[in-house]
Amino acid sequence: MSTRRTFLKQGSLLAGTAMLPMQHIMAQALGIEAGQMQSLRRNVGIYTERGGTIGWMIDKSGVIVIDTQFPDQATNFIGKVKEQTDRKIDLLINTHHHGDHSGGNIAFKGLVNQVVAHSNSKINQERVAKEKGNVDQTLFPDTTYDTEWTKNVGDEIVKLHYFGAGHTNGDTMIHLENANIVHMGDLLFNHRLPYIDPSAGASIQNWIKVLRKARKTFDKDTLFIFGHAGEGYEVTGDLSALKAKELYLKKLLKYVKKEKKKGTTIEQLKEKTETIPGATEWGGGRMKNINLQVAWDELGG
Ligand SMILES: [Zn+2]
Repeated sequence: MSTRRTFLKQGSLLAGTAMLPMQHIMAQALGIEAGQMQSLRRNVGIYTERGGTIGWMIDKSGVIVIDTQFPDQATNFIGKVKEQTDRKIDLLINTHHHGDHSGGNIAFKGLVNQVVAHSNSKINQERVAKEKGNVDQTLFPDTTYDTEWTKNVGDEIVKLHYFGAGHTNGDTMIHLENANIVHMGDLLFNHRLPYIDPSAGASIQNWIKVLRKARKTFDKDTLFIFGHAGEGYEVTGDLSALKAKELYLKKLLKYVKKEKKKGTTIEQLKEKTETIPGATEWGGGRMKNINLQVAWDELGG
């Protein structure tokens, strides 16, 4: 397995456009299951394989990619894009820095004109790459923004929104305005307990505000793409998913605050809590304890 991976990784580093279909065929011959391209509206769709959901827009005069999963998955995805267009990718956007969303950027080296992310996401991407010692094998954003950023690509208007810290301190919501599709990145785990990353400036209290503002900014016809979903749930949906996540985060904070006041310790809290009261449908498991810990730390003494 490691040899295959190494081969594909090196392949993707060396690949020019012409090599990609061959590489794609090789991946298939080696028995590596590629994911699926799924159309949503207009020329916009998603690709799912392993990692955060990839969003794409492909038309005659423009190609946009949102997030890149990991290098092998990104290579498979690029193969699928090349089946549809010879065009160089106009724009790659990272919703945030986590490896399952930006780790595949390197496969796009030389194949994309512009890479954009929130300024904090770029800082996080650089920090993590330094920590892992793989700066050379990473493709960083060449463009950043702070609150809003717009660009016309093909027949789409792309608008990036930043409403403050949530899942990290650098989460972008990407609105493809003509299709009225918004990629939420990891600001939304559909029917799944969220990962919250305080090491990258996450804030539960602000995440609630971010989701509320998103519900006011977008509308009932907006189709949302989610970073992840629970077993048996979709990675797309409507405003109700945002409302549900907002409610979960509120219940989490309220519960931890109440238990703190009662004198419960964090260890006792983890031990006795199976699910969050008022949000039991979200389930428990390992992520439950991480959520409790982050809420505990955020609420302070
Ligand atoms: Zn994430």
